[in-house]
Amino acid sequence: MALIVQKFGGTSVGNAERIKLVAKRVIADKKKNNRVVVVVSAMGDTTDDLINLAEQITKNPSEREMDMLLSTGEQVSIALLAMAIHNQGVEAISFTGPQVGIITDNIHRKAKIISINADRIHKELEKNKIVIVAGFQGIDENQDITTLGRGGSDTTAVALAAALKADLCEIYTDVDGIYTADPRIIPNAKKFSYITYDETLELASLGAQVLHSRSVEIAKKYNIPLRVRSTFSKDKGTMLLSEEKYGKENKNMEKILVSGVACDKNEAKVSIIDIPDRPGIAAQIFGELADGNIVVDMIIQSAGEDGKNDISFTVMKGDLDKTLEIMENTAKKMKAKKVIYDKNIAKVSAVGIGMRSHSGVAARMFRILGNAGINIQMISTSEIKISCVVSQKDADKALQVIHKEFNLGK
Ligand code: ADP
Ligand code: ASP
Ligand code: MG
Repeated sequence: MALIVQKFGGTSVGNAERIKLVAKRVIADKKKNNRVVVVVSAMGDTTDDLINLAEQITKNPSEREMDMLLSTGEQVSIALLAMAIHNQGVEAISFTGPQVGIITDNIHRKAKIISINADRIHKELEKNKIVIVAGFQGIDENQDITTLGRGGSDTTAVALAAALKADLCEIYTDVDGIYTADPRIIPNAKKFSYITYDETLELASLGAQVLHSRSVEIAKKYNIPLRVRSTFSKDKGTMLLSEEKYGKENKNMEKILVSGVACDKNEAKVSIIDIPDRPGIAAQIFGELADGNIVVDMIIQSAGEDGKNDISFTVMKGDLDKTLEIMENTAKKMKAKKVIYDKNIAKVSAVGIGMRSHSGVAARMFRILGNAGINIQMISTSEIKISCVVSQKDADKALQVIHKEFNLGK
């Protein structure tokens, strides 16, 4: 008897009809002699709507109260799904994250799961029930509700799969797998049958929202067989594999330089201008940001002149106000000239394990962007990815020309 964890995203449970459809799918798999644990997101745009509602009350809501608010979305969908399953004569029980012991740290709105006590879930599975768990939420050591960051239900599902030692974790969504690019932006993007954890991790971290990046990290760490597929079709979707297994499925692995492209429009660029150039400056800037729990992504420092320097970096747009507040303070202390920012940027990236063994990929990407008249503001590279920050108005075009240059289309 296999144990499967299935996660259904917001669109998949977007209305009553769809919840009934999900109930049918889950029951069908249960009847194939599986034990089934289901994780669900909030219905449709519920989370966005709740955020909008809070913004109508205050510009600066308490993060604890935001988590209290946002976690309600998932509580609606677990109860409705349980009712839909009951209605078809099958036993099911729903739980919030705290009820099944999903313990997190206390960083509200981007909490990390520390541990899961799976006893209650095992007990209910023993009673032959389908167990439904609210995605995206947990509880910290003070018994306060936390959420895992936007898109975090994927992470709930994979973390549960790890804790329960599940045989398979399936992420059901509104596309039938992982593509070479977001199919909504690049219509001729190609679907992968298989992809490595590492490439998916890069794509997800670089803006491909099809999976929450933490979910891929956990899947890789615990070697969880993970599949992304559509709620609305029978297609088998995309299977994530270790590089070793992938190599067995795909003899051409070395030949493929770039596997996919991604775009992230959720970052903003902050620059501190004319900082006195002395040792310890970078440590001070990034130390103070870290103390504020702000994650910094790309960083560049200009070549100093007249004992002065500029440092630019990117942060999530949601952290921009807090970042500016901290940096205004830091700039004053360091006697820097000013702090400026730009919200209209996008990070476009090319990802591929083939880059490990080939040079020249970066040059090709820069050339193709230059030929398209697109200015590159920042660059960062790793073994298997190249990212460029460009103006947001150029982002879709940048993605298109890179996708075409590396022959990723159908
Ligand atoms: P869910 O609500 O089910 O979690 P999301 O909206 O979070 O769904 O993720 C699915 C969406 O991810 C797709 O509709 C698609 O537009 C987007 N996406 C971005 N990049 C990719 C990619 N490389 N492959 C597939 N989908 C992608
Ligand atoms: N409902 C949450 C969000 O919209 C979590 C999720 O859907 O994964 O971000
Ligand atoms: Mg999602």
